[in-house]
Amino acid sequence: MIISIASGKGGTGKTTIATNLAASLDSGTQILDCDVEEPNAHLFLNPLLDKTEIITIPVPEVNKDKCSLCGKCAEICQFKAITVIAKTVLTFHELCHSCGGCMEVCPEDAITEVGRELGTLQTGHRDNLKFADGKLKVGEAMAPPLIKKVRSCADPDRTIIIDAPPGTSCPVITAMDNTDFVLLVTEPTPFGLHDLKLAVGAVKILGIPAGLVINRSDMGDDKVHEYAESAGLPILMEIPFDRKIAEAYSRGQLLVDAMPEFKENFIKLYKRIAQIVNA
Ligand code: ADP
Ligand code: MG
Repeated sequence: MIISIASGKGGTGKTTIATNLAASLDSGTQILDCDVEEPNAHLFLNPLLDKTEIITIPVPEVNKDKCSLCGKCAEICQFKAITVIAKTVLTFHELCHSCGGCMEVCPEDAITEVGRELGTLQTGHRDNLKFADGKLKVGEAMAPPLIKKVRSCADPDRTIIIDAPPGTSCPVITAMDNTDFVLLVTEPTPFGLHDLKLAVGAVKILGIPAGLVINRSDMGDDKVHEYAESAGLPILMEIPFDRKIAEAYSRGQLLVDAMPEFKENFIKLYKRIAQIVNA
């Protein structure tokens, strides 16, 4: 079973839920930190890393001696990553989505692919919990290919917990797509509700069953509860605001280590998700 943990809004508690859920399940679990712009699950899990790999994507390089400046490459590129201006072909590697179209249509065979570094992929484990995360280079915008790499580490024999990035654009969709359940973490504030609705819209398009964790549940108002009921979203867990949760987090400590009474709640959460997925 693959469970992705998403929210729309940032800072709602996704990483808190993802790391503690993963650490509470006894064995056969793997956590994939797909928040590649700001991976931080490792700070709480302290995994032993076995491997760090530089991840590249293929981008075009033009052999100017062979190029006839016909412009077919620029015509097919949907992202303006290659263009012909006067007697020059210019490539913009940051815009390239690596489809290979330019190489395919070039009548002169003038285009080859070279690797462009996106970031790093790390894999490891904490006792019996397997771990992987991706770290995008600073300033890099192409998160989805790196997220796909992190997801490719998924061990089919394990329960997978995915810590998704915030937002509702391509990176989150890449992290949530083809998962069995999306656990949406929200807070009962107008901002939380606004972004939750956007996230629910994305989850509906993907057709994945979803449920809600309401974090900082004792703050704000009742509108998230009302919305959850009207949208048919089951509320699977509520966590009140607690300074001790924030203190443990800022020490890099798991909530279930600082407040072991939470472990049972995370196991219950998992069981409720499993019930929904297997229903
Ligand atoms: P996200 O992964 O969604 O960005 P995090 O799990 O990193 O969110 O949490 C963001 C911040 O909120 C952290 O400083 C964390 O300690 C704090 N936090 C999360 N849940 C609670 C809570 N129930 N009570 C107090 N602080 C919390
Ligand atoms: Mg996070």
